[in-house]
Amino acid sequence: MDREVRTKAGGAGLVPLGPARAGGVVWLVGAGPGDPELMTVKAQKVLKAADVVIHDGLVSQAILATVRPGAKMICVAKRKSRHTLPQADIQDLLVALARQGLSVVRLKGGDPFLFGRGGEELEACRAAGVECHVVPGVTAALAAAADAGAPLTHRGEAQAVTFVTGHAATGGAPDLDWVSLARANQTVVVYMGLSTAASIAARLMTAGRAASTPALIVENASLPAERRILTTLSGLAEAAADLSGPALLMIGEAMALAIATQSPLAVDKHWGVA
Ligand code: SAH
Repeated sequence: MDREVRTKAGGAGLVPLGPARAGGVVWLVGAGPGDPELMTVKAQKVLKAADVVIHDGLVSQAILATVRPGAKMICVAKRKSRHTLPQADIQDLLVALARQGLSVVRLKGGDPFLFGRGGEELEACRAAGVECHVVPGVTAALAAAADAGAPLTHRGEAQAVTFVTGHAATGGAPDLDWVSLARANQTVVVYMGLSTAASIAARLMTAGRAASTPALIVENASLPAERRILTTLSGLAEAAADLSGPALLMIGEAMALAIATQSPLAVDKHWGVA
């Protein structure tokens, strides 16, 4: 049973995933934020049937330990290292392995379709005529908000939540609609924003977001090393300065409900400053 998973192809049915399969398949699987208990049952099932697992640096050791013994493991990106396989090469690898008839799992932190480059890998598989399925994962923001006890939407305080990248493809802060993000009563969650925190905070304040808006930084969400720092928009850059990540910047009125693991001076210094 472990070597079968239900697939949408051809109107459902159980399709074997093992090496006996004539045509290979690529699974883009969300591993969630790090805690193995936050993986979906489907992700676990697909991992247990994989012939090859191609993962990046954000996938925790605890999750990698659940992969079928005997499956080939390929790490394509070491976090904060220059030894990263270029995206095009990863796509070529997925296609080449699937063409060998293998069940290939591309395992990604969080959700594959949220800042995970899952779209590009799906397109590459489609272009090559390789069967490809996506298994969603718990994105980091959901785990960070849950652990902090700070809802991403909250009646009267956050009518919308927006997930943005803090990094432009060309480096530096991205070209976002700062005026829209600066409106009150919404939560802005910034992925990959640690190194650009100062410029993101400055742009939001320049566009009109109050300097006193609560801001939460969550590092290593769902992992034993999780750290949560509660500050304000004006204290964001200072609070972000000594973190190494992975971390999210979460800005918005509802973040005032967060329970911090660490309350730096920034809270006293900036809280309530208009
Ligand atoms: N696909 C992933 C995001 C990948 S982009 C997802 O859905 O979660 C990488 C960024 O995600 C990191 O720079 C950081 O901002 C965020 N991130 C990933 N895992 C995290 C974690 N456990 N805690 C905090 N932030 C995390």
